[in-house]
Amino acid sequence: MPDLIDTYRRYLPPPLQSLPWRAHPLDGKLLLFERDNGLNVLLEGDEVAHLRRAAPRTLLIGVTNDCTRACSFCYRDRAAASLWDYPSLLAFCQGADAWGVLEVAFGGGEPLLFPCWGEFIGELYASTGLSVNFTTNGTLLTEDFLRGIAGRYGQIRLSIYEDNDWEATIDRLVRSDARFGINWLITPAWMAGIDATFRRLLDLGVRDFLLIGYKGSDTSLLLDAADIKRLEHFVVQKYEQLGTSVALKLDACWGSSLPTVPRLFPTDDCGAGDEFLSITCDKRVKPCSFFHESAEARTIDDVRAYWEQRRAMQVAARIGGCGRER
Ligand code: SF4
Repeated sequence: MPDLIDTYRRYLPPPLQSLPWRAHPLDGKLLLFERDNGLNVLLEGDEVAHLRRAAPRTLLIGVTNDCTRACSFCYRDRAAASLWDYPSLLAFCQGADAWGVLEVAFGGGEPLLFPCWGEFIGELYASTGLSVNFTTNGTLLTEDFLRGIAGRYGQIRLSIYEDNDWEATIDRLVRSDARFGINWLITPAWMAGIDATFRRLLDLGVRDFLLIGYKGSDTSLLLDAADIKRLEHFVVQKYEQLGTSVALKLDACWGSSLPTVPRLFPTDDCGAGDEFLSITCDKRVKPCSFFHESAEARTIDDVRAYWEQRRAMQVAARIGGCGRER
């Protein structure tokens, strides 16, 4: 949307005006996003009050159902077919870019099992204005691969588990000067040593943490009220100690369960179905990865029609751990 950027660029501080911003209208606001630095600027006021959101910010896309692991807590439907191939996924993402989506976040399964994954990232970055991100368990990440995609992705999200040798993967990421953060599923088992693990991750060079709550029916993985209180205290304490030198993030599904944790953008809702959509490996669309109901999404036009019909519904996922108000 070059017109919008040309209109609003002058509201930015001079050093930021020349960056290659993308404009993403929201309802009564304007978000500017710069994919290479991951910068976001939110403009509010009379000048942008007339704007309306035209697309979700992010599509979460399951590129394959294949994985190198078989985690019990994984949300994916193991019976689903892997229907994306290189040309169809590229065309789909290019359509999302033309629609106005800012970011794609690929998951799976394990994205590094998708054929020619490094080439795909490079071609998608070169042919669109999308920020290209992916989540991996890290076992297939090599320094050669990281060198090959350098400068052409937004962020790599590394999932850490008790048994996926995350220390070695983080070492490879740091040595490769990769842009990365960790996804940390906070279970009762992790809570027992959360301070020591956090310190170890900091020592290894992690500066971006996403703390995720378990969604599902296995009650042994859900935090009880005492653990949630401890987690809340932990996050507030780390934020006070470390300030903005470390990005300490919580996934949207915590809802209002951690009330004293400071929020960058106060909001009552997770944004599923409006701010982001989940696209499955068998080409279906749903509000987030934890919904059982979905609709066919062969093309980006299918996704757009789904979004336009359902974006205002704010439906909760029927799964333990969903923080959306029912
Ligand atoms: S609908 Fe529930 S499970 Fe889905 S993103 Fe929102 S809070 Fe999380």
